This record gives sequence, C-alpha cells and structure tokens, in this order.
Amino acid sequence: MTRVCVVGSVNMDMGFEVDALPHPGETVLATTTRSTPGGKGANQAVAAARAGAQVQFVGAVGDDSAATALREHLTANGVGTDGLITSPGPSGSAVVVVDSAGENLIVVAPGANGHLTLHSPVLRGLAADCDVLLLQLEIPVTTATAAAREAHSAGATVIVNASPSGGDPAELAELAELTDVVVVNEAEAAHWVWPVPHRVITRGAHGASYAGYGQEFSATPPAVEVIDTSGAGDVFVGVLAAGWANGHDHALRRACAAGALATLVPGAGDCAPYSEAIDEAILRD
Ligand code: ADP
Repeated sequence: MTRVCVVGSVNMDMGFEVDALPHPGETVLATTTRSTPGGKGANQAVAAARAGAQVQFVGAVGDDSAATALREHLTANGVGTDGLITSPGPSGSAVVVVDSAGENLIVVAPGANGHLTLHSPVLRGLAADCDVLLLQLEIPVTTATAAAREAHSAGATVIVNASPSGGDPAELAELAELTDVVVVNEAEAAHWVWPVPHRVITRGAHGASYAGYGQEFSATPPAVEVIDTSGAGDVFVGVLAAGWANGHDHALRRACAAGALATLVPGAGDCAPYSEAIDEAILRD
C-alpha cells in the first residue's frame, strides 16, 4: 500500500448554490447552503485514502469549534492526524459559490493554514516517512519546501499541485528544485515555469496530459452529467498520488476517471469516489 503524506490546508467551506454567479457589486440569493470540511490538502488526503493509499495529514487547525469537525472529518475518512496541530486563532475557511451550470467562485481565508511550519521534529518525521509527499500552495511555500526537503532526502517522490497559482517566484523556484511531479490545471500551467521531471496538466472535461522523460500521453474521462466541478481537481491529484507508484499511465487514467466521478457530487469536501467506483468507471469506459 502506498504511503502518502499530505502537507497542506484544511478549511471549513461554506457552500452556496445560486442560479447565476453574482457580478461585482451584485447581490444574489442562494437556493441552498451547506457547511462542509474542505481545503485542498484535506480534500486530496481524503481522495488518496479513499483510492486505497495509507495517508498521513500534516496541517494546522485553529482553536475554534470548526477544528473539531475538521479533525473528525479526516479521521472518519481513514486519514492519519498525528501531524494535525492546533494553532491559536481561527481555522481556515472558504466561501464556495456554485451556479446552476456547475461553475464556481471561491474565496479562501487561510486562518491556521497560514501559520503552519515544519519546526516540529514530529512533523518533519512524517514528511520523511512516506513513499509520496503531496503538497499544494494553500500553506506558506517555505513550509511546503521544508517538507519537500525532508521527503527528497529520504528518497520519497515529491508531488506538487501548484494551486492556487501566484506566490514568490524565488520561493517557488526553490520548491521546484525538490519537486518530482508538478500537477496544474490549464490556467495554472502558464504560471509554473520551472522544469521538473514529470508534468501533469488537467484539462477539465478533456481529461489530463502527461509529459516527462521524452514521453507524452493523455487520458480522457468518462462522459458524465456534471453537477458541480468544485473538488474535481483535488480528487484528481489525490488519486494520482495514491497510484503514482503503480505506473504513471495507469495512475493518470484512474485520476481522470475519479475527477469525472467527483463532478457528480455537490461540494468539494466529500466528492471523492472509493477505489471500487474508480475501477468500475474505467472498465465501463
Ligand atoms: P481544476 O478543478 O483544478 O481546474 P480541472 O477542471 O482540469 O481541474 O479538472 C480536473 C479533473 O476533473 C479533469 O482532469 C477530469 O478528470 C475531471 N473533470 C473536470 N471537469 C470535468 C467534466 N466537465 N467532465 C468530466 N470530467 C471532468
């Protein structure tokens, strides 16, 4: 079983369903609201665990009531929380607005995620003791880089989902030097300019493509009646990390199918399919 360590964010998401996304200055009424655990780190950790990996999460929650629910969410999904620390102040939170066509608009308040460091030897140990270290950019880049350094020295594969894009180019260049695989969507691809051994680009309904070591291939997702695309990218990345050690081509196909299945479920925090459902979707295709 692949051992994945995710060093990343965990948020409480407030989801609002609306008929049409508001323009600047406009107010619209929501048809439904829901509060669910999210954050790219936690979403990807849950997706990797449901896809069959043994997952440890390193991250930070605040000292508020959301923290309890976030910790329980990870535990309930079989994600190890030995590396989930509490930092004074609020947990990370996000507002996710989804329209009737499944398009979304997201604002994230980092909260505790912004204070995560890898100063503790326990956290550094978790980052080193895995087969795959999975990172995103919703925590300080310096923290992600410290984790990448631990994993890289220990011989683990470092996968970076360079999302959201932006950040200090000098810090990102340092992270890139320790990165084996970068995963970006088409918009983020333009911002990641550093060469890494393996590059994966997700292309929404068109699937995903791989380029590395003179090899290129792509995968297309099964046709789905999309309900909500939020979280599909996170599911893709988590499933890719869980399967990376079993062959890059196979991992890409599984990730693609899992991303498509995720669009059938509203919300981002609980849309990851289990391993059996991914296998079935690939067989049916
Ligand atoms: P992000 O949400 O990060 O922008 P993408 O939109 O590229 O990422 O989607 C990630 C993955 O989710 C895709 O590679 C694909 O597997 C799946 N996916 C997303 N949108 C669709 C869709 N409309 N139909 C089928 N699969 C989709």
